Amino acid sequence: MTEQYARIIIDISHEKVDRTFDYRIPERLSEEVSVGSLVLIPFGKGNAMRKGYVVGITPHADYDKDKIKEIAGIVTDSVTAESLLISLAWWLKEQYGSTMNQALKTVLPVKQKIKPKEKKILRCLLKPEELKKALEEAERKNYKARFRLFQAFMESPMIPYEIAVNQMNLSSATLKPVIEKGLITLESEEVYRNPITLKKSHAQHVLLNQEQQTIVDAFQRDYSENIRKTYLIHGVTGSGKTEVYMELIDRVIQEGKQVIVLIPEIALTYQTVMRFYGRFGSRVSIINSRLSAGERYDQFERARNGDIDIMIGPRSALFTPFSRLGLILIDEEHEGAYKSEVVPRYHAREVAEKRASMQNASLVLGSATPSLEAYTKALRGEYSLFLLTERAKKDSRMANVWVADLRQELKEGNKTIFSRPLKEKMEERLAKKEQIMLFINRRGYANFVSCRSCGDAIRCPHCDVTLTLHNNRSLVCHYCGHTIPMPNECPSCGSPYIANFGVGTQKIEQMTKKMFPSARILRMDLDTTKKKGGHEEILTAFSEGEADILIGTQMIVKGHDFPNVTLVGVLAADLSLYTPDYRGAERTFQLLTQAAGRAGRDEKPGDVVIQTYSPEHYAITTAASQDYPAFYEQEMVFRRMMKYPPANVLLTIQFSSKNEEALISASEAVAAYVTPLAEKEMVQTIGPSEASVYKINDIYRKILYLKHVNYDILIKIRDQIDGFSENRPDLFDLVLIQYDFS
Ligand code: ADP
Ligand code: ZN
Ligand code: ZN
Repeated sequence: MTEQYARIIIDISHEKVDRTFDYRIPERLSEEVSVGSLVLIPFGKGNAMRKGYVVGITPHADYDKDKIKEIAGIVTDSVTAESLLISLAWWLKEQYGSTMNQALKTVLPVKQKIKPKEKKILRCLLKPEELKKALEEAERKNYKARFRLFQAFMESPMIPYEIAVNQMNLSSATLKPVIEKGLITLESEEVYRNPITLKKSHAQHVLLNQEQQTIVDAFQRDYSENIRKTYLIHGVTGSGKTEVYMELIDRVIQEGKQVIVLIPEIALTYQTVMRFYGRFGSRVSIINSRLSAGERYDQFERARNGDIDIMIGPRSALFTPFSRLGLILIDEEHEGAYKSEVVPRYHAREVAEKRASMQNASLVLGSATPSLEAYTKALRGEYSLFLLTERAKKDSRMANVWVADLRQELKEGNKTIFSRPLKEKMEERLAKKEQIMLFINRRGYANFVSCRSCGDAIRCPHCDVTLTLHNNRSLVCHYCGHTIPMPNECPSCGSPYIANFGVGTQKIEQMTKKMFPSARILRMDLDTTKKKGGHEEILTAFSEGEADILIGTQMIVKGHDFPNVTLVGVLAADLSLYTPDYRGAERTFQLLTQAAGRAGRDEKPGDVVIQTYSPEHYAITTAASQDYPAFYEQEMVFRRMMKYPPANVLLTIQFSSKNEEALISASEAVAAYVTPLAEKEMVQTIGPSEASVYKINDIYRKILYLKHVNYDILIKIRDQIDGFSENRPDLFDLVLIQYDFS
């Protein structure tokens, strides 16, 4: 038998955990020691026994074979969730480039002993038949908020006050009279921190259609034969993906296994959560960014103890300490939010694949607009591809899409932001009392102040960007938050002729008001959703018919179902097309498809008007015809030609420093060091050049790109750069290097 060695991390609470130690696996333990095992090892000069986590197994030890020590024993006989996560952290560190501490912080929640919070609870005092009457009365009188309250009480006699206010959007004006009448009480109670306390309701099972059933059957067949793979469900908006997910989850938990469901934070609305909760009851928990560190820790604790089987949440839910993990589901798999923006810059899809393989779990990805990465793998046969081509609800059809050419409109003298087709359709909808969504597909849409005399725009002194005008009173930097009052004269030349240029959501709201004076308008953007629950509040108000038109950024295209929305207008599709990175077309296609998916969710037919200056661009034409494969083909031609992902792997090396000189010499030294290595391996290098925003918060940034088809070659070069920079503190002391693979 060949010798096997275990790569072991000694003490995870120690600051310097950035290295592993190799130990021989004795023959008597060869069956038991695996990645994730907690083992006992003799350590240091005195050979004191220490505990260590096995993060890898290898036939080649990184140490003199004659001096290498042996593992003394195993601490626990089964691999725990925690030790698995620790080896996952090691993988994150190696794969994405970070310290072990950063990786550990990513996978293990902060342990904070917080005493249980005192919570306020709403308790229903009505008997079931009284409650039913109250519900009917609220419906008859059209008391929408009260109806929601009683409906929730139908499912659980207690509702946390915080959920009632923040997620169900019930105001004290609604609650007070109900409390005063003695129908419900407001109590204080010490509770275990559980973000959802509603009981399982009698879930309405839908009968799956043929396409849905095909997926469930195929998954079931594989699962029962212990075949684990990755499945990609490409299903148009409203095709019933969520129903399929719930069916798959059901199968997996029936086998005693556990499930992680990733949903982008922005789509994690009360409605979505309630669907899962209605079906699986208290076996479900959620985490989201609104939870405190203590609440988050408690949820992970419940998962570890086996109190729950299903965890729903954004990216970080991936690290739920389930020891019997059977399935990971990633909804809206294409979402940018699945990529971590802090070190380690991991992608949830890749980590999910790794974790699934470590625990013999399946992975299911779903999207109406799959990422090019996932679709490429599906076409290569690495993932099993399934299609859902129709809207699932009876009588619900895909919307009709119209493209309006803004160049033509301008030529014909239309200087408003509304093309004639959009304006006509809006008038029609307003007359029919149907609802409209107006969509601006870019956040922080140019809204800067510049001088008509000297032409200077007012810029942030700490960042390389213009300041954005808010409420006509203050100028704010969207990168660092620097805020100044709106000046009366140009800071450069003193001219009083300074003015606001570009169109922001507020400006669009004003223009819409002017064009449609009698319409009731709601606006949803960073300003109006800043306060807690603001997002949910606006969506709820709109879904209850409190406005005719909802104006917003990408926030409005996710989550909620709006049965009465029959028209979606995309005001300027080009805004997301011409961005400084290579994903502009992909993002545009996704946003247009999602926006189109908002129209006509119910039986009323829906229209979508896409306004654009480039009506012939393939991202626009294929989105208009809802033809994902055609978009994929065209976009891949571009990616192959430019050697962009997924045709190639792109390693982005970012240098940053407060000291511009140090930055320049360090980035150039790395480029000079890399050039011969890159030439030898046929790696293409670009740069170093200034980042698209060169200075943020007084820190300068430069970027060096490396492209190659082979991930491992880029990892090797990265490790060499790390070695180089460690040996040259004179060059790199003031400079931070960060890596990002895509
Ligand atoms: P997606 O997740 O693909 O957007 P959903 O699962 O939310 O789609 O389904 C869209 C709507 O269609 C929901 O209201 C859902 O209840 C309904 N639905 C899904 N599957 C079926 C089905 N087989 N029969 C009837 N209605 C269905
Ligand atoms: Zn000026
Ligand atoms: Zn700034």
